[in-house]
Amino acid sequence: MRLLLATHNDHKRREFERMLAGAGEPVVLDVLERSFELPPEDGETFAENALGKARAAAAGLARIAIADDSGIVAAALGGAPGVRSARFAGADASDRENLEKLLAEAPAGSALEYVCVIAYADPESGEERLFEGRCAGRLTDRPRGERGFGYDPAFMPDDGPDGLTMAELSDEQKDAISHRGRAARALLAWLALKAG
Ligand code: IMP
Repeated sequence: MRLLLATHNDHKRREFERMLAGAGEPVVLDVLERSFELPPEDGETFAENALGKARAAAAGLARIAIADDSGIVAAALGGAPGVRSARFAGADASDRENLEKLLAEAPAGSALEYVCVIAYADPESGEERLFEGRCAGRLTDRPRGERGFGYDPAFMPDDGPDGLTMAELSDEQKDAISHRGRAARALLAWLALKAG
């Protein structure tokens, strides 16, 4: 099965390539050309934003497309930054600036949740599906680890090895418990059922 991945985020692309198109997986992933303009992520939900990107790529290129929208939800901040995670510290904020703002505004040890929604859109049949994955964790007191991306150095997953941040885990450890890993496995299970 060939799917077009509608993202310009190289971190997400690498994670999807590992999880959907790695050894033994039934998917061939094509990545969107840099010049293809995705719609702005201005929806109020992860699902709305993910569907917007998948639909735009599917319609624009007449191909089955998938897209993810993801972010981090901080209980101490009433659910912020949520869908605004990529621009928490400003429109052009870097991952580091966003992470520093989270560390400044939420107390160490407070509850966090990563959320990922993957949208699937088939332009020919009009079929659309959503797959959600979540990963609960806690905020560290300071960033630790060099792997992963975004908020990973400040996120201690509840299901991970004691006291380690997501940025201290191997790719395999992150994929096994991450929001994106869980959503990707739900997509894979559905694709397998569909293929019979
Ligand atoms: P978007 O899905 O393009 O709106 O961006 C989601 C934002 O959420 C990213 O820029 C990151 O800041 C954050 N995020 C999503 N998934 C992860 C992850 O797996 N690790 C760390 N940060 C993430």
